[in-house]
Formats: sequence, structure tokens, C-alpha cells
Amino acid sequence: MTKPKTLAGQLQEIGVKASDIAAVAVSHTHPDHIGNVELFPQTMLYVQKAEYDWPGEGGAPRFKPEHPVTKLEGDHDVFGDGSIVIISTPGHTPGHQSLLMRLPKTGAVVLSGDAVHFKDNWDNRRVPGFNFSKEETLASMQRIADILAKEHAQLWINHDKAQSDAQKKSPEFYE
Ligand SMILES: [Zn+2]
Repeated sequence: MTKPKTLAGQLQEIGVKASDIAAVAVSHTHPDHIGNVELFPQTMLYVQKAEYDWPGEGGAPRFKPEHPVTKLEGDHDVFGDGSIVIISTPGHTPGHQSLLMRLPKTGAVVLSGDAVHFKDNWDNRRVPGFNFSKEETLASMQRIADILAKEHAQLWINHDKAQSDAQKKSPEFYE
């Protein structure tokens, strides 16, 4: 839930202002994945309609109603060139989404979000009991597996500490 280095601090370190950011997407609306959305109050937010419309506690909205938003119903090619594609992977939550990045030097990478939590739960296709839909989660895992095979992509499992610890962190970057 907390990180020693904040996103705001990391952007400052590389000389990027929040207003420089053209697009923000969140994998889903669990609190450990949306805490920074309002760092970018003017930035277009890309989120699945099913997630946006999913009532929060006591029926509360998931996002500030005034935040600019594009409500997606499926995949979305963010820049129209296939370099960054939002992939619909429901199951963990109703409108969970993952991200396919086709990087010039690193190659294709899929960011799992919470479609997969840990390497063990990917390797064994285990679905956490608190997921919104087991069937959809399994279908989304298969979809990710198919994309990995087709794209020869790496899977970056965002909560897998061992994998994450081995990866470059800002201000370093992947090309
Ligand atoms: Zn989650």
C-alpha cells in the first residue's frame, strides 16, 4: 500500500510534470492501484466501463465524477500504433485490464495488474478467493497466456516481489 518513493517524487526526479502526462490508465480500482489518479486531475483516464460503473462501498463512485474519462468496453490501442494496448482482463474485478507494451528494444511486455498476483498463482492457475469471478479470471489468464505466446512477450507480475526486485526502477527505464 505504501512505497518509500512516491510517484510524484519519481516524476520530479526525471523532470516530468503531472500536466505533461497525456494518458492515465489503472488496472482496476482496488486502493493499492488507484491512489495516484488525482495527481493527474486534468489527464484522460482510461478505464473499463464495467469497472467505472461498479459501485464502491455504500454505492460510492470509484472516481471523481469530474475527472476526464474514456470508458472502455474491451481492448484499446492507446496511441493507435500498437505500441501500448490496454487489454481487457476481467475477473479479479468486473472491469480489470492489463497492459501490452511493445517496446523497441525490450520487446513485448504484458503488465499483469492483478489478473495474476504472484508467479505461483500464474504457474498453477490459482484464483484468489476474493476475486470477483473465478471463471472470468481463468479466461483472462488464458487470454494473457495466448498473447504471451503470440507476441513472445514477458509477463511482469506486478505484485511478485522477487520479480519486481530484479527489475529496473525509475529513474532507470526500459527502452
Ligand atoms: Zn486488486
